[in-house]
Amino acid sequence: MIWSLLMLVAGLLAGLQPLGPARAGPVEGIRLENSDSSSPDTPTTEHRRVASRVNLLQLNFVDRGKPGKTVLSSSDLQTRSHLTIDGYVSGVVALCADEMAVSVDGRPMAPIRVGADGALWLKNFGRVAEGELLAPNREQPLERAEAGNLAAARRSAVLDGGYAYFPAVAGDAVATAERFTIRFRAGTQQLNLAVQQQGYSLICSIAPEKLLAREPIPFFYAGEPTDRFGGRTAADLDARLKAVAKGIEAVESAFSGTLIDGVTIIESPGRHNAVTCSGSRRIWFYSAALLGEPLDELVVIAEHESLHILVDLLQLTQSTALRELFADLKGYDDLSLERLELLTFGRVARARSGAGQTSPSPLLAFISEKNFLEGARGGHADADLEEFCTSFLHSLMHSDRLEEALRRPLNLGSSRSRDLTEGGRQALKTHYTLTIDAMAGSLNEARRNGFSGAEAAAQLALRLAQTRAVLSTDSR
Ligand SMILES: [Zn+2]
Repeated sequence: MIWSLLMLVAGLLAGLQPLGPARAGPVEGIRLENSDSSSPDTPTTEHRRVASRVNLLQLNFVDRGKPGKTVLSSSDLQTRSHLTIDGYVSGVVALCADEMAVSVDGRPMAPIRVGADGALWLKNFGRVAEGELLAPNREQPLERAEAGNLAAARRSAVLDGGYAYFPAVAGDAVATAERFTIRFRAGTQQLNLAVQQQGYSLICSIAPEKLLAREPIPFFYAGEPTDRFGGRTAADLDARLKAVAKGIEAVESAFSGTLIDGVTIIESPGRHNAVTCSGSRRIWFYSAALLGEPLDELVVIAEHESLHILVDLLQLTQSTALRELFADLKGYDDLSLERLELLTFGRVARARSGAGQTSPSPLLAFISEKNFLEGARGGHADADLEEFCTSFLHSLMHSDRLEEALRRPLNLGSSRSRDLTEGGRQALKTHYTLTIDAMAGSLNEARRNGFSGAEAAAQLALRLAQTRAVLSTDSR
């Protein structure tokens, strides 16, 4: 009964044929080893004992750009201590019979949460519909569980024995090494599952042109090195990577020494952008953006993403002064929910279109890259405080273009533009100056709270003061 149940779950999760002893030959995307009991790596009694308490282990992987999933049952785990994956592992889900400490490459897996509606939430992955995962210790999918059990699961808010590990950036690998360990620890006993993947490869390092003291910027590729970048010439790819390096170097030379520790290029169908993550100095470029954007736009994107890392380092979105200013620029009413959320949490949980808002400042459109940097396409400074700070720093970095940008019609995106009146120009200058002052104040806040960006803060303070002086001279 249990065996057939696990087969059912495996099928549900993987969308594949269940993986079990009846299957001959390898399952697509995965090779299981150690089925030979004479192997020196034959799992120990301790390994088998811990494995008997793991109901299910799911590995999400990306093989030659295509995502897939595979599932191991308790029996699979009891007979093997090694796995070889074709491609790299992009997520891990474990359902255990009871509480365990489970880690992926030394990093703890997060408990699976149960939402108020009974749906499951996997950290960095999102919602999983009821019935897609089986609750440990139960012989039915959650959606069919007794009402009492389900209510208890909702109250506890954590799925007992359920753990997930997904990288912060979707499509990235859970570990950068070719070989890593998934470890289950129950009391004093543990199970180590060695996983072999074809994961990250360092494709090149690009030495900066001006920052002689800086180490070359490493570019990693998450995927199959042999058929990467389908048919691009080496020269084209080289020019694209150099454009990214140029953007990074421009930000680093404007604000501080080394900000970025590398660039990872990942495949993810449907994604056409680049991202950064709080607490990390890595830029992730989706290959569609890297291969599809013009070289000038790649420089702009790389600058923008590098500035996100600077905003994070300087803790700008934590600043009360900047939160208040952004609420004012967005035109949030004094007693609106949006203003309250922004001041309390630094962001608005649910954007209600136009609600609690009157006449947002044109500064939001003005500093967006598609307006401020003529010819650029990106930027959405009105989206949230982080985007606002990032685009503002970008405009500050190119403050030599400020006067020229004030003379042009305001590009509102989607082929819409608006001529600026003299009054409109003065309002923009005033709002720009208010932002300079709030940002200067935020650096003092960050210094008091303690942060690691002292050098960058000093450079930024200097640029804020210089640009403020130019603006006040112009206004006279
Ligand atoms: Zn952004």
